[in-house]
Amino acid sequence: MDAVERAAALRAHAEETASCTRCALAQGRTQVVYGSGNPNAELVFVGEAPGFHEDQQGVPFVGQAGKLLDKLLAGIDLTRPDVMVLNVLKCRPPGNRDPLPEEIAACEPHLFRQIELIEPKLVATLGNFATKLLSGKPAGITKVHGYEQEVTLGSRSVLLYPLYHPAAALYTPSMLKVLEEDFARIPGLLDRAEEEPDEVEVVATTPEADPQSVQLGLF
Ligand code: SF4
Repeated sequence: MDAVERAAALRAHAEETASCTRCALAQGRTQVVYGSGNPNAELVFVGEAPGFHEDQQGVPFVGQAGKLLDKLLAGIDLTRPDVMVLNVLKCRPPGNRDPLPEEIAACEPHLFRQIELIEPKLVATLGNFATKLLSGKPAGITKVHGYEQEVTLGSRSVLLYPLYHPAAALYTPSMLKVLEEDFARIPGLLDRAEEEPDEVEVVATTPEADPQSVQLGLF
């Protein structure tokens, strides 16, 4: 899939997802927060779920944690348009509570489809929920942050890189220092992923809807 086809496929998928009612979170949301960034990004971040501001604006990581994410990206000479930012859940849990297992189970096909379409080299998980879901392992973020691992997502081999969630580092200087150190390894991991081509054949995907009809402005 070339860059234009990939962007069109993502827009079509975003349009489908916008009306999702697979779990009860559909009832309280302002809108589905699909994701934002570069459809052809080599680096994808996966957080937890939209908060108040994200639910209002329809864009992930726009609050204080988002500002910190921007700062961390700037520290490695990247900006939001260089990467794609997604969440495990696309709708805001009430009161910003933790995602429930049944909500994750209902929503995970959206995330896996997004990653399948984007075909990133590196997936950086932010916090416990994204890390456990995409690693398929129960180990918590405290143990696995800063250690990359090879995982197979869909038909592709991807380098997974667990990180603390920026929200956890907002008011804890020691955790922020760890997050900055872990972020500093990202450029090297991207170089490494570039040198190691996928061993599994990638299957091209054809968009099912007319991308021209979708007006999302997310990409
Ligand atoms: S959280 Fe996910 S599964 Fe639940 S309604 Fe929103 S998009 Fe659908």
